[in-house]
Amino acid sequence: MTASFADLIRNIPDFPIPGIQFKDITTLLRDGAAFRQAIDAFAERYAGRTLDAVVGIESRGFIFSAPLAYRLGIGLVPIRKPGKLPAATYQVEYDLEYGSNKLEIHRDAFTPGARVVIIDDLLATGGTVAAACQLVEMAGATIEETAFLIELTFLNGRERLAKYPVFSMIQY
Ligand code: AMP
Repeated sequence: MTASFADLIRNIPDFPIPGIQFKDITTLLRDGAAFRQAIDAFAERYAGRTLDAVVGIESRGFIFSAPLAYRLGIGLVPIRKPGKLPAATYQVEYDLEYGSNKLEIHRDAFTPGARVVIIDDLLATGGTVAAACQLVEMAGATIEETAFLIELTFLNGRERLAKYPVFSMIQY
């Protein structure tokens, strides 16, 4: 019997700044059985759905979105930090607790009418994935669901994503 996902996620207090309880997933990723179990759980959830692509958010979202897309036999569309995508992009700027961030997607990332699931490692305030949802819709796709390994429920990210189904494997 493998340890539960929650037992394999390490909490690092005050990283990267004082007051943040950082959920370190590297301790889960290095456990081959647990990593496979996480990807398999996502794959089982989405296997029966009609999906055209998995959208991964840079950087830790790529760790889960790429193997999931491979398992489902559908494409992977990256959402990246500014200046990384080489062709024409849509860009969204969103607020963080301190300052702001930008994310981009290729304008031609999807076939018209594509249905997608958006994956990131962790849902906190929901600002990052809300920006990702905006980009996906700007590029003409429909969001089936947003999915996360971890959800920090006390930050109410789900409320911010009220328009979309939200799935998470582990809640704190
Ligand atoms: P948010 O936009 O507030 O939902 O933040 C989500 C993004 O920030 C995700 O891409 C996470 O990887 C990262 N993040 C936010 N809070 C934490 C945390 N406590 N531990 C690990 N990563 C976090």
